[in-house]
Parts: sequence; structure tokens; C-alpha cells
Amino acid sequence: MMDNLKKNDPAIFDMVVREQQRQEEGMELIASENYVSRAVLEAMGTVLNNKYSEGYVGKRYYAGNEIVDEVEQLCMDRARALFGCEHVNVQPLSGSPANAAVYFALLKPGDKVLGLALDHGGHLSHGHPVNFSGMLYNFTQYMVEKETGRINMDRVREIALRERPKMILAGFSAYSRNLDWKIFKAIADEIGAITFADIAHIAGLIAGKQLDSPIPHFDVVSTTTHKTLRGPRGAIIMCKEKFAKQIDTALFPGLQGGPHDHINAAKAVAFKEALEPSFQTYSKKVMENAKMLAAELMRLGFKVISDGTDNHLMVVDMTSRGVPGLNAERALDAAGISCSRSTIPFDPRKPFNPSGVRLGTPAITTRGMGNDHMKIIAGWIDRVVTAAAADKASESLKGPEMTAAYKSNSAIKKVKEEVKEFCLKFPLFHS
Ligand SMILES: *Cc1c(COP(=O)(O)O)cnc(C)c1O
Repeated sequence: MMDNLKKNDPAIFDMVVREQQRQEEGMELIASENYVSRAVLEAMGTVLNNKYSEGYVGKRYYAGNEIVDEVEQLCMDRARALFGCEHVNVQPLSGSPANAAVYFALLKPGDKVLGLALDHGGHLSHGHPVNFSGMLYNFTQYMVEKETGRINMDRVREIALRERPKMILAGFSAYSRNLDWKIFKAIADEIGAITFADIAHIAGLIAGKQLDSPIPHFDVVSTTTHKTLRGPRGAIIMCKEKFAKQIDTALFPGLQGGPHDHINAAKAVAFKEALEPSFQTYSKKVMENAKMLAAELMRLGFKVISDGTDNHLMVVDMTSRGVPGLNAERALDAAGISCSRSTIPFDPRKPFNPSGVRLGTPAITTRGMGNDHMKIIAGWIDRVVTAAAADKASESLKGPEMTAAYKSNSAIKKVKEEVKEFCLKFPLFHS
């Protein structure tokens, strides 16, 4: 594999090889990442990349799209089989553009939308002021409760009745509890609001039949395809038939040009994999692993927001162990454990160095790690964070210097060796 790349562009070839090595040797706990199958990777590296196919199946603005039409149709058919949606558009290039298309289709600039606050687990594209969504639309936000770390639906209803948004958005990037889709829908119906679910993080757990789906209840549902769903980087939008035309025209010609047909082929391959019974087993294990990891961390004295998880992720307050989020992220990275720092609800610290880190189990579960391994991983996290808390000299250093200092910490170095030896026993490719 990659013989031509090696010959024609050794520089890029070398970087790909080193990145593969990093992935093989490291413990991937970033909740939004996963490892795709060889089949998904192969589909992305095909001549489908060469085609222009602006438009939709049977209505293209370029010639020669007979086969691409078959690819996109099969991709849509499989998405419908997997999620049971009425209509699907498989062309969104990623999650944020998919959400842009949903807003563009159903709202006018300035319209009011109710969504989850970013620092309580929402996503940038759910109305953050630095994002197009917050600039173009009038977002108002619900939050989690301080005591429980959970969304209180009575509060959501109060805010909805007071603010009367045109759209209610349910979805998150860093919330570890289930959303009650039916109650969201009932609240929206009271005020005639459109319901929009962004299931980017949990789509694989829904496809794997481990979590309830918003699709029977909600008007529109978007998801990325590269997180728990374990497909290529991209997204899809699903909706009730009555919104199909608006969604499709908002995406093309409204927002995007030609679809990425090689990626859509890879989405189809991932959907086929997710339709297999083994994917249900996988999703179940992802959630069991997350529960076990959260329980072990709590046992070791870490504060996990909402005291546990119902899905694949958890937000851990690292200041509960005397280390700020950025330092925890860097120290863990120095030990070969990847995670992403995260604000915690009502965070007294700034977003650049917040209080928490977000951990997730989709990637390590793909590699075959199971319940007993979660105890080992929690033990490593504990040792790294204990070492970082004691290493006050490194704590105040900046960027690369901080990372370098943690890399030379002997306790952290020792964990890195153990992590590497352990990870090499679990292959990156699951099929
Ligand atoms: C990841 C994510 C997105 C954005 O996806 P990109 O592909 O990174 O643009 C949108 N919404 C939610 C809830 C997400 O978690």
C-alpha cells in the first residue's frame, strides 16, 4: 500500500507513517475520534474523487454521473435502513456545514433558536458568539443544573415558553446523559417550534440500538459520520419528508458545491458495517467501557460531572485532583494518552485552560479494549495526574515547554512506556 506516495512524495509519506505509528502506540480517549475499517479507508482512496456531480441523484449538472448516482442512492438507502428516517441528504461535507444547511433551510437571519450552552456541553455551531450560528441567529440557551450536572426539562420548558424560539435544538458534544426526545418534542409543540436534533456524538450508539433515537419524533436530525458511527469524515441530514426540499436546496445550491463522491462511497461502506449485528455489540461495549472508566475514576477520587455516564463520554473535573484541564491534557498527552480539555458547567476557569477534560471510549473499544482494561487505564490517568499535581515547576510553563517538561517527568515517562507496550497489543484495524 502507498507505494506511489512513497515514491512521489516521501515527505508526506513519512508523515503518514509517523501518524499511523502515533495512533498505534497511543491511547485514544478523545470522545469524538474513532478508527475506521480498511474498507472505509479504501473507499476514500478511489477514483470517485475525480468526479464532479453537483445536484442530486438523477438531476446532475454534469455528465457521466450514472455510477455516482448508484453510489449516492445506495448510501441514502442504507442510511434510511439504519436510522429509519423519511428523507436523507448524504452530501454534507462535515457536521458544521450540515448544521449551517439546517439553519439556512428553516430559519431567517435573526430568528430565535434555543440550544444547549457550549460550556455546558453544547457545540460551537449551536450558537456560540464566535461561530456563524451565533452571528447570524439569535440563540438563547439552556444549561445543566449545578447540583446534578443534568438538564432539567422543566427549566427547558420554562425558557421555551418565555423565549418562544422558532427552533429547539437538542444535541451535545460533552454531555454524558440521555436526552428525552419526546419531552423536547412536546415542549416544541406547545409553542409551534421546529425540532432539530444534532446527534453527531451519539449516532453510532443510536444506530447500534443502544440509545433512543430522536428520528421518530424530530423534524430534522443531523449527524457527523466520523465519531461513534465510525465512518469517513462527513455528515448527513435526516428529516421528515415535508422538509426534504428545503433541506436539499439549502445544502445545494445554497451552501455547497459538488459532493465528495469518494467520501459518500465510504459513508455507504460504514453504514453497511453499522447495519451488521456486530455493530450493536460494539456500541454496547463502548457504553459499558465508559461506565466502567467513569466508575474507576470516581473510585480514585476524580469528580466526574453528573457522577457517571449513560453514553460513550464523560467530563472529568481535573481540579478535583489539583490539576487544571490544560495541564491534565498535556501531561496525559506526554504519557501517550490523548484527550481534550473541556470546560465544566459553571467553570470558574477560562476556556483556554478550563477545569476539565473530556474522555470517551469509542476508539479504544474499536481496538478491542474491554472492561478490565478500563481499570488499567484509570490507573494510568491517576498516576499521570498525581505526577502533574506534584510537578509545580511544569504547571506554569507555556505551550511546547509545558509538554516538554511533562515528557521529561520520570513518573509520566514510565506510564508512557507501559501505555505503548499495552496499545501495541491492540490492532488499529478491526476488519
Ligand atoms: C463534532 C460536532 C459537530 C461538528 O462536526 P465537524 O465535522 O467537526 O464540523 C457538530 N455538532 C456536534 C454536536 C458535534 O459534536
